[in-house]
Amino acid sequence: MSRPYYIAGNWKMHKTRAEAAELAGALVAQLKDGKHKYLVAPSFTSLETVGAIVRGTNILLGAQDCAAEEQGAHTGEVSVLQLKDLGVQTVILGHSERRHIYKEDDELINKKVKLALKHGLDVILCVGELLEEREAGNAEAVCETQAVKGLEGVSAADLSKVTIAYEPVWAIGTGKTATPEDADAIHAFVRKVIAKLYGSGAAEKIIIQYGGSVKPENAARLMAKENIDGALVGGAALKAETFVPIAKFA
Ligand code: PEP
Repeated sequence: MSRPYYIAGNWKMHKTRAEAAELAGALVAQLKDGKHKYLVAPSFTSLETVGAIVRGTNILLGAQDCAAEEQGAHTGEVSVLQLKDLGVQTVILGHSERRHIYKEDDELINKKVKLALKHGLDVILCVGELLEEREAGNAEAVCETQAVKGLEGVSAADLSKVTIAYEPVWAIGTGKTATPEDADAIHAFVRKVIAKLYGSGAAEKIIIQYGGSVKPENAARLMAKENIDGALVGGAALKAETFVPIAKFA
């Protein structure tokens, strides 16, 4: 089955509003004839600015995280209701920096996933193993646990609003990329996990992005693999000159 390619840029904690606006404007201009599905996820502080620039274009607006609660006494957190108010369509959850630097566990991530879906947002759920987990032969087990626990209680109907991003932690921001073969093997495995949970039809449909030092030079080789349906891009998403060639990979 042919799945659409989905290329997303995670701008992390980079860019002032003016810088974000400049990049968003360049992407709108340069991707307007792009054939795939696109998303940018700026910092919370730039969502409104970037949202006004990408609205009505072929680029979706994403947030990098959200709170696990709708509202209340949660200093420093940002609610899905506030994200929706800014026109956010998708939220990235379970990013490895949230898991490993900010110690988010699968239970918390699952709460966020369910809350975002309940409020009509799409979700990019990130999974991926640490280097020591890969070296111990546990890459599949780690990804399975993160996918199963992250999706606990998510209905089959809501799964259609979920994208999985496989991001081996050792490949994020390190310049090391998983080989297309290694990445594809985990993607195929994650698809099997989805098949066990939701059936083979859902597994065939779900988009699984690869993330971890995707660059213009390696994008096409990764995307050529049967189970790699797009990319979640960090460092190379910060400049139009590196994101656009990935987004328009040939
Ligand atoms: C990421 O943080 O999601 C990511 C994949 O980063 P990078 O492309 O810089 O490795």
